[in-house]
Amino acid sequence: MVSNPDCAKFISDLINGTATAKNPAEFTDALKGFDMINGQGGFIYGDTIRKAYGFDGSTVHRTISSGKAQVELATPYAINTGNARVAAQIAETQAGIQASDALHEILHLAGRNQFSDYDYANTVAGMRGVPVPKFDNVRRASEYWNSALAAACKPRR
Ligand SMILES: [Zn+2]
Repeated sequence: MVSNPDCAKFISDLINGTATAKNPAEFTDALKGFDMINGQGGFIYGDTIRKAYGFDGSTVHRTISSGKAQVELATPYAINTGNARVAAQIAETQAGIQASDALHEILHLAGRNQFSDYDYANTVAGMRGVPVPKFDNVRRASEYWNSALAAACKPRR
């Protein structure tokens, strides 16, 4: 995914475009961010977002500079089927969702004080040369910049 050069370029442009003097970048390469987080709080499953908002989602805790940065991915659903082929398809779909969620969340930790969904949505609007849309809530801002990330980083098959 992130070894795709378009994806790596999009990510470094996104991070560099969002970084400020007050909130500089900790990394501009998602694989480097992955390694840093792995050496700190790591990647865990949880349901913080489900409990707070009533829908499944992933989130981050703390910051790289705290030395305890952590990515929390939505706890996957149990695969309740006796059909091995269907179970394998569900597992593959879940793995794909987890990989793209993990990438999204890693990027939040690229800012020394994190970069928010609004921060990244503003940067993406700038990259597209369009006015920043009005977002009703953080989920809409998240979806806005994530759609640009997904387009740049979609797995090649
Ligand atoms: Zn987000």
